[in-house]
Amino acid sequence: MKVDSMDKMLVSELKDLYSAENQITKALPKMAKAASNSQLRSAFEQHLKETEEQIQRLEQIFEMIGESPRGKTCDGMKGLLEEGSQTMQEAEEGPVRDVVMIAAAQRIEHYEMAAYGTVRTYAERMDKPQIAKLLEMTFEEEKNTDQKLTQLSEKVHSELKRAA
Ligand code: FE
Ligand code: FE
Repeated sequence: MKVDSMDKMLVSELKDLYSAENQITKALPKMAKAASNSQLRSAFEQHLKETEEQIQRLEQIFEMIGESPRGKTCDGMKGLLEEGSQTMQEAEEGPVRDVVMIAAAQRIEHYEMAAYGTVRTYAERMDKPQIAKLLEMTFEEEKNTDQKLTQLSEKVHSELKRAA
């Protein structure tokens, strides 16, 4: 598909996000399983549920514009997940691995915030307020997840300090 209009650009960006979210749903169960801290595990499990809703939201948008969500692979997310899985395997099980996973997860959330924020703004500029609103909802969820991860990271760090 040659992207020669803003409409096509929007579709292309949305397909990219759809691929990114689907990749994340495959990674999150593994991250939850590898987490030692029970709050971190449930944060990953909860974000999996949210991610499934975010996928439905994207499907809703594709239905509104009469396009298919498929056909693209988000290479950015693929790279983030590959790197995350590598550092996860290198880390010793326990709080150190938890911290490593939080860092990888926050990279992912920031990537999503950048992508959703941009596409939401494009939709606003293109006078598509309904689409912009749906994207904004997901943007907020990613932001909240990022903040929750920062709190959990502080907690695990102080546990590590106390144990030392
Ligand atoms: Fe997401
Ligand atoms: Fe997310």
